[in-house]
Amino acid sequence: MGSIAPHIFDLPKRVVIGEDVLHTLPDLISDLHLGRRVFIVTGPNIRKVIGESIASLLSDKGFSVELSSVHNTYIDEVERIKDEVINFRPALIIGLGGGKSIDTAKYVSSKTGIPFISIPTAASHDGIASPFASIRGIGKVTSVKASPPVAIIADVKVIAKAPRRLLLAGAGDLIGKLTAVLDWRLAHRLKGEYYGDYAASLSLLSAKHILSFSKIISAGGSNAVRIVIEGLISASVAMCIAGSTRPASGSEHLFSHALDVVANYPALHGEQVAVGTIMMSYLHGRNWRKIRRIVKNLGLPVTAKELGVRDVDIIKALTIAHTIRPERYTILGETGLTWEAAEKLAKITGVID
Ligand code: ZN
Repeated sequence: MGSIAPHIFDLPKRVVIGEDVLHTLPDLISDLHLGRRVFIVTGPNIRKVIGESIASLLSDKGFSVELSSVHNTYIDEVERIKDEVINFRPALIIGLGGGKSIDTAKYVSSKTGIPFISIPTAASHDGIASPFASIRGIGKVTSVKASPPVAIIADVKVIAKAPRRLLLAGAGDLIGKLTAVLDWRLAHRLKGEYYGDYAASLSLLSAKHILSFSKIISAGGSNAVRIVIEGLISASVAMCIAGSTRPASGSEHLFSHALDVVANYPALHGEQVAVGTIMMSYLHGRNWRKIRRIVKNLGLPVTAKELGVRDVDIIKALTIAHTIRPERYTILGETGLTWEAAEKLAKITGVID
């Protein structure tokens, strides 16, 4: 009889989703015993719109607060914020804003051991609650392992005010879980990689949730936000449970990262992932037409032109995608696609003419 190796993971302690929930922040910090010194990482715009009022809300309740703006997620900028955090010596970090602010808060949290709360103002990707930070400029692998947020506060009204394009990108990132899970199974069967059925099912559920409610999502508003946010949090929890990005990131993500390399971050992450999912579904022999139809009906890009790239950029990205994370085995295999195969794949799926 073999023994089962222990599998240990952290999960967020509290998730608050609803309308007008930001005012619950001081009580939440007290309930979770997260201290009295708070460092808020935000972006220049969100700082004016919400950041300053959240800082006042906390100082009025007796918290010591420092507010700082992050401008990008290149390693130098993120390290600058880390130095500010070390100087201020907070008990808690808050990431308030879109991906940049939250990724920075998460990265600094993991480097300093100070817990962080995620307060997303847009639902554009699953980084809002995942235990991985996307930092630029540290090699090809852009995901840095970190701790998940100790709590998440998602104010549906605030997020509904963000551009619709961001919400759709969040839906696109979730649709990507369809092929991410297929790639994970493949790696398990061919390479003996660890595979967790529960984490895979949870991640898949978040994608199916988007397919089932695509009409409501494309209409926008609070209901759409709630569906996408719940999906993004589920996918993040799946990553916590798996202890890797495997359930949430496969060949469709490798394609998106490759396109970032080839065309310098041409479109939103979730938009590129959605196009990647259409093509990788074809390679997996799945119903790519159905996925393409839903992606298109949601209002997401489905062609090179709509992504704002040239046809050759798509082909190039497809041919180098397997080199982005060589240790991550996917349907692209170890040698990747030839130029001819990549061109054919992009043509058949209607991504290029
Ligand atoms: Zn993603």
